[in-house]
Amino acid sequence: MNVRVRFAPSPTGYMHVGNVRTALFNWLFARGQGGVFILRIEDTDQQRHVEEAVEVITDGLTWIGMDWDEGPDIEGPYGPYFQSERLDLYHEHVDRLIADGGAYLCYCEAEGAAPESECHCRERHAAGDSLSPGLAVRLVNPGGRSEFDDIVGGHLSFENEQFGDYILVKSDGTPTYNFANVVDDNAMRVTHVIRGDDHVSNTPRQLMLYEKFGYERPKFAHLPQILGPDGARLSKRHGAASLTEYRDQGFLPEAFMNYLALLGWSPQGEREFMPPEELVAQFHLEDVRKSPAQFHIEKLVSLNSMYMETLEPGEKRRLASDALVKAGILDAESLGDPEMESYLDDIVEALGNRFRYGAQIVEFGAHFFADEVTIPVDLASYFAEDDVRCALAAAAESFENAPEWTEDAIESIVRGSASEAGLKAAPLIHGIRVALSGMTAGPSLFTLVRLVGPARSADRIRRALETFPAAAERK
Ligand code: GLU
Repeated sequence: MNVRVRFAPSPTGYMHVGNVRTALFNWLFARGQGGVFILRIEDTDQQRHVEEAVEVITDGLTWIGMDWDEGPDIEGPYGPYFQSERLDLYHEHVDRLIADGGAYLCYCEAEGAAPESECHCRERHAAGDSLSPGLAVRLVNPGGRSEFDDIVGGHLSFENEQFGDYILVKSDGTPTYNFANVVDDNAMRVTHVIRGDDHVSNTPRQLMLYEKFGYERPKFAHLPQILGPDGARLSKRHGAASLTEYRDQGFLPEAFMNYLALLGWSPQGEREFMPPEELVAQFHLEDVRKSPAQFHIEKLVSLNSMYMETLEPGEKRRLASDALVKAGILDAESLGDPEMESYLDDIVEALGNRFRYGAQIVEFGAHFFADEVTIPVDLASYFAEDDVRCALAAAAESFENAPEWTEDAIESIVRGSASEAGLKAAPLIHGIRVALSGMTAGPSLFTLVRLVGPARSADRIRRALETFPAAAERK
């Protein structure tokens, strides 16, 4: 069988992580089977064609590395299919159903019936009826049961009556989701419908239509929900639930794809680091779990840092500079400068595996680009003791006058200043680190001082001493 699948998002302007995972499982399945992956924008509810909302979808898929194969443009590059451009097809189909007595015109809305009142339009059905402006169309519910074997959820069975004579085409002529979905899945010869399990109860509604049209039904695979760490459905409330936010935070697309693939799917074996080609080779719909998946940002971050290790230094620098520009810390013009490039390379190298995704350069390295640092008040105790203050002042002085600026030279200044003040090196090292970076952890202190430079280091130490007076003075 030639596998044909589709991703069918509505253009909401927002690409929820769960939707991206749905797209991914379709894409992985298609690519693994040598099949076709279709992108279909389900925009019949939209008042107007929302260009930007569609871009959110196509940019998101493209960023993560998912390409689609077909579209209404014969020449390619293929644009997605838009349901709003296919209204004639739905109308033709609904007329066929009306003519066969499988659907009927509904006059309730046109005649101003109260929305909660029972519809008796089925009885008004007459031979020769066809779609007419201002009238909705309802399905003749056949009763009985709809059953199917879900690839993920197993055998499912529903009493059809509960869905009533649901609406296929609204009075404004637009098809409802369930109707357009079936017409298109058939027209596009979709073999597998892979979507979120929030659509499970739509499936029997759709199966009634497959029966009426006499269409061969596709196979269904309903994917488990993605939950936040607290067990509730992943939402904006959990922080980043949209794809764009991860892209903006400087996550790597391969890492994000890898992490998403593990949400609801368990590869055979222990391996979790799986670049796209490997995911494609290993992915099987049968291995999708039935139980909900949980999104853990730490897991994504740790996978991302594994992918970061595979980057060339120049690529890491680009990730860092993108994040710094985005945060307004660097201006884009300064980037071409070779001195700035090597400074960035040094910083990235110094941060080592503290730099696990783009935006962390801002979190851990913004001070490298600042004139001054703000030290949180709860770190005041690093500057409280007289002997430490003495050593800090001496170190500042020696930094400024250092004849050479190497990490060895910096180390001997630091150790010398500490021992002159009768101190171990540690309290001085901690004090300098806080003064220079506003943080208690980071790269090697001697690397930190080297990168901040003699004048800025001395200046930051003096400012810290001014900002936080000695313990004795505060009493
Ligand atoms: N437009 C629907 C959605 O975004 C598509 C569901 C389906 O794949 O059938 O949820």
